[in-house]
Amino acid sequence: MNKRWEWNRRDFIVKPILWAGAASVLGGTDILLANPLNETATGPVLQRTLGKTGLTLPVVSMGVMNADVPGLLRRAYEVGIRHFDTAAVYQQGRNEEMVGRVIKEMGVRDKVTIATKQPSKGQTQDVAEAKKRFVEGVESSLQRLQMDHVDILYYHAVDSVEDARAEGPLEALQSLKKDGKTRFVGISTHKTQAVVNEAIRLNLFDVALVTLNYTMAHDEGILSTIERAAKSGIGIVAMKTQAGGTVRPDAKLPKMLPPVSQTALLKWVLNHEFVTTAIPGFSTYEHLEQDFSVARSLAYTNEEEKFLADKTFSAQAEFCQQCGECKEDCPKNADIPALMRSHMYAVQYRNTGMAREMLASVASGRGLDACDGCESCVVACRNSVQVGRKIAQLKWLARNHELSC
Ligand code: SF4
Ligand code: SF4
Repeated sequence: MNKRWEWNRRDFIVKPILWAGAASVLGGTDILLANPLNETATGPVLQRTLGKTGLTLPVVSMGVMNADVPGLLRRAYEVGIRHFDTAAVYQQGRNEEMVGRVIKEMGVRDKVTIATKQPSKGQTQDVAEAKKRFVEGVESSLQRLQMDHVDILYYHAVDSVEDARAEGPLEALQSLKKDGKTRFVGISTHKTQAVVNEAIRLNLFDVALVTLNYTMAHDEGILSTIERAAKSGIGIVAMKTQAGGTVRPDAKLPKMLPPVSQTALLKWVLNHEFVTTAIPGFSTYEHLEQDFSVARSLAYTNEEEKFLADKTFSAQAEFCQQCGECKEDCPKNADIPALMRSHMYAVQYRNTGMAREMLASVASGRGLDACDGCESCVVACRNSVQVGRKIAQLKWLARNHELSC
């Protein structure tokens, strides 16, 4: 049973209003469309074109990873979300099954953009075997989704240039696209700068799914890399946009950040026009409504401006940017970025399943097992992440909450 800590299943009354059609064009790619369904809509929904794919999407999409309530997907469609992002690994395939079931029941497959992902981890060096495994993985995803194709297929969690170049998955992606199993191919990464630069060079990907949030505001290298990718025609989808969400029991921030923090952070990402859409991973109806409200106006309110002007947020958020710069610090060569991601899933997302899966994907001897018996962590993060404290919390969770793998 999935241990979600704070579900809110409040129902909403939906009274359709008439479709008002395309309204206007903003700048080069922004399009404003009136929302056809939400009575409380106060403005048109901002849409952008996803690079060379030509797909036009509302700027707010849904990362389904943290959702396991079908009603949340239905409501997302009702408010105007048209792009749903899942993956083979989420909830061990059950996430894809839920997406497929809901989309089929609603009869809206031709109105939505479905993205899924095949992992880069565990790939063999044997090119033919790696290609075969990747293709088989995608076939399984399509079965779970009850679809004959997806719109975007990502090569998932590519965290090194070497993985980005791996011939097996790259050949599989091209062949799956040629066979009509996916309309477009993408790459997802937490190592934005190195991997996206390589994706530009390879010129094989239509879409890049990248981590982008306010804690990176001063990282010119990451911002310019993403912008360069967009200029090359790669459609940019942003993830981790709210730097780990509202729950902050382990940081120097209030335990629950106020709603204004979430809308401010999402607007900051989307005010970069090179980002087509974001995939916040909301798991409650309130957060869905709150996040989607951003699609109607990217202008900051006074409160949002005040929140962003408080420069302490980035340091206090303790968001691990997965830069890997601390890797030399640990005498046991622990995979610190993976441990920090696992901590974010467990503590901030309250998604122990994802945390466990993340830990399980780490090579033996480089996960929490490396930290066993290490009483004093010597890792010093360049971005104010309290690595030792988070590892101690992970260890405690592993002892008490089924995180061990
Ligand atoms: S803990 Fe800090 S230095 Fe290490 S990968 Fe994360 S952000 Fe980078
Ligand atoms: S607790 Fe010890 S083994 Fe684990 S990351 Fe820190 S220094 Fe490395």
